[in-house]
Amino acid sequence: MTPARTTNSERETEDVGIVVGRCVQAGDVVLLIGDLGAGKTAFVRGMVLGMGGEAAVVSSPTFAIVQQYATRVPLFHADLYRLEAREVPDLGLEELAESGVLVVEWGDRMQARPRDAIEVRITDMGGDRRELAVRLPDHTPWNEVADSLRASIPPGSSAPLS
Ligand code: ADP
Ligand code: MG
Repeated sequence: MTPARTTNSERETEDVGIVVGRCVQAGDVVLLIGDLGAGKTAFVRGMVLGMGGEAAVVSSPTFAIVQQYATRVPLFHADLYRLEAREVPDLGLEELAESGVLVVEWGDRMQARPRDAIEVRITDMGGDRRELAVRLPDHTPWNEVADSLRASIPPGSSAPLS
């Protein structure tokens, strides 16, 4: 199940993150895939808001590699941009997900991707337009998230992928 929608501002991308943040539970892994400036960190800011945290504290943890936020369930935010692929397995990211939610920028660089991970692909369509395709596990509560993503597709934007 991969609903997609277009956003036309950073704020709208945060809003999609809020929807996902409301639904995640400990053990969930969210992989963010997209180029520099796509809006991955904006999406995480939304997730933090949706999880009851403070958006202002969110930035790309480029130097720390992993940041943790005070949210209803601990949220661990990793950014693999500056890492060599061979360094990634050493981080123990999967273990973090056992005690909270893990969200990973450049998640496609994770070698052993959890099978049930939520994958968010963000594509820059030019200007402020971004297409967000969100691959969700096929069970509740994700069916509701999928419905809300489909319902929020603004008029004139591209149709959902499926
Ligand atoms: P990333 O973490 O993927 O490198 P950021 O979230 O840090 O990207 O930055 C995204 C940039 O793109 C910000 O400067 C933001 O204002 C801008 N932007 C423009 N339109 C959008 C949109 N629709 N969604 C998200 N960001 C957008
Ligand atoms: Mg970023």
